[in-house]
Amino acid sequence: MVEKQIIARGIKDECVINAMLKVPRHLFIPEQYRHYAYSDSPVPIGYGQTISQPYIVALMTEELNVSSTDRVLEVGTGSGYQAAILAGLASEVYTIEIIEPLAKEAEARLKKLGYKNVKVKVGDGYLGWKEYSPFDRIIVTCAPTEIPEPLIEQLKDGGIMVIPVGSRGFQYLYRVKKVMGKIETEKITPVSFVPLTGPHAK
Ligand code: SAM
Repeated sequence: MVEKQIIARGIKDECVINAMLKVPRHLFIPEQYRHYAYSDSPVPIGYGQTISQPYIVALMTEELNVSSTDRVLEVGTGSGYQAAILAGLASEVYTIEIIEPLAKEAEARLKKLGYKNVKVKVGDGYLGWKEYSPFDRIIVTCAPTEIPEPLIEQLKDGGIMVIPVGSRGFQYLYRVKKVMGKIETEKITPVSFVPLTGPHAK
């Protein structure tokens, strides 16, 4: 998977490649879909949700440019796979999932696999996690129609957010930088994520 889908497509960051090599993706996927664990596509994880395609996980992680002292917020825990990748690169990972059973399953899975620097919360990620803010990095793995204001507020000055933004089924992935209190956005590539849901979804 890492050679054919990730390195061959241009992911170069050694730390990201090593993190992807270390995390056993099949353990984040329900048994009935495990034979698809290393295939080049998203895979169902229940509750109408998916674990993202490996290449997209690698691309978002590379764009996030995480360093070992960073505190990272993830919106959309899902299976916990992206959080596990980030846990190997960052100092602390805070991840929010709106579907309670998914959050609980991911939390138990991450604990069982020995990840000690990940905190999981059930809640609406649109609102971020104020208690632990500001964050050096924010990654959003579901798609809002615009960048949530609370996430901009909770991003540290000099920080980076990677987020898909757009309509249902079609979005662009953006790299957002906060520079002296102002936001600079850069379009990366077209993507298709599940929508950000909850009371603030438009
Ligand atoms: N990062 C996940 C992984 O590694 O398995 C994949 C995430 S999946 C593509 C998107 C997730 O975002 C879903 O589990 C969905 O329930 C969650 N989600 C949608 N809206 C949300 C919200 N407002 N707050 C938190 N999570 C949300």
